[in-house]
Amino acid sequence: MNIKVPEQVREIISKLKSAGYEAYAVGGCVRDSFMGTIPHDWDICTSALPEETLNILSAKNIIQNGLKHGTVTVSLDHNLYEITTFRKDGTYADCRHPDNVTFVNSLHEDLARRDFTINAMAYDPEKGVFDYFGGISDIENKVIRCVGDPDKRFSEDALRILRALRFVSKLGFTIEKNTAESAVRNAFLLKKISVERISEELIQILNGDYVEMVLTDYIDILSIVIPEIVPMVGHLQYNPHHIYDIWQHTIKVVVNSPKGKVFRLAALFHDIAKPQCFTLDEKGIGHFHGHPEKSAEMAREIMNRLKLDNKTINSVVLLIKYHDRRPPAEVKNVRKMISKIGKENFLALLKLKRADAKGQNPATIEQKLSYTEALEKLCYQETKDGTEYNLKTLAVNGNDIINLGVTEGKCIGAILKYLLDSVIGGVTENKKEELLLLARKYLAE
Ligand code: ATP
Ligand code: MG
Repeated sequence: MNIKVPEQVREIISKLKSAGYEAYAVGGCVRDSFMGTIPHDWDICTSALPEETLNILSAKNIIQNGLKHGTVTVSLDHNLYEITTFRKDGTYADCRHPDNVTFVNSLHEDLARRDFTINAMAYDPEKGVFDYFGGISDIENKVIRCVGDPDKRFSEDALRILRALRFVSKLGFTIEKNTAESAVRNAFLLKKISVERISEELIQILNGDYVEMVLTDYIDILSIVIPEIVPMVGHLQYNPHHIYDIWQHTIKVVVNSPKGKVFRLAALFHDIAKPQCFTLDEKGIGHFHGHPEKSAEMAREIMNRLKLDNKTINSVVLLIKYHDRRPPAEVKNVRKMISKIGKENFLALLKLKRADAKGQNPATIEQKLSYTEALEKLCYQETKDGTEYNLKTLAVNGNDIINLGVTEGKCIGAILKYLLDSVIGGVTENKKEELLLLARKYLAE
């Protein structure tokens, strides 16, 4: 089987081969090509040592980082190509990085250090594919399988466990039985891996087309990274709005929410405090009072621990905090929400609410979707001329109130809030004269 290798990659390979070395396209690009998807980058492996690669390829395009690990990066027309010398990895004391790498002369040895069979193939544009570990057949059967003994491979580098889940989520493949069992058995080693790398993989997992498979089948692994999910699993809700347990519901909300870091994290954590907020009333109906606030708080803690950036954390927390508000679909309520969280956040919230509804009792979904649609319509209607009612857009400001003779800061704030509420509630228009009149009345009372 032939694959289409970009011209620039052919050129690099052919230069190295003309100089007497072996060179191949390798890893993800070969996997993607055989799967019929377009690779997002092309990596090359070669028998040439880094200095030799440097000499063979003109030095002007070369970025000299990673040299000691055997990687030379070449930039051609803004495309970056990593060219890595065949290597084998030494021992792994920290469950992540090899203590040393040794350059070797054999393609077979280089492929043997790679994580999964589907990622351990090399391609020579003239000679075709080198597939020593059955990668093509695993692609055909949609299987993720470690190269070599899974226990050894996962204990060398535990991040491979999350990489396996990422490939499940992205490709819809299943993990071969021995590899899967070993991944679960070794999941505790993830505690030794840097949280930044874990978060990176987690976010990719959440954004995969097949995330449902991971969230359903690999709770044991996910709960090493986020133990707070465990109480959700199997927790029944005893509520007519729900037919799924909290975790099954969460999975549906993740799957139905738009892709993107903020939405997927918000969906994952939106009900995380439900188990601890659960009460059963005398009629046997379950309630979860205060769960949005508590879930927002827990989500913040978890995301801080995962060292996610503050902008992401704040956006996720906001969505979670407001996800269960259900004001009647009326202009004043929509204005109030927009003044509180802004139009963009409100529209994002409606997207999360839609996903949330889709994970609830099917008998109630349609009515909940019409409700969010009504809120959305009002939101566009209210903001179509660019107006968002908040203290910034209010037609009077602090100075105007001071000019009425009010000096105390607290009092100025209270009057402005009263005026804003009056505009939002439709009591008055957002016009300076009318607002000042109202403020005078308020002071006289
Ligand atoms: P993607 O398409 O998402 O980039 P990829 O397979 O190319 O996936 P990279 O992280 O770019 O992933 O790694 C390139 C190649 O290096 C992989 O295909 C695999 O052969 C090898 N590799 C990457 N990470 C590891 C690891 N932790 N352990 C063993 N081999 C790895
Ligand atoms: Mg890659």
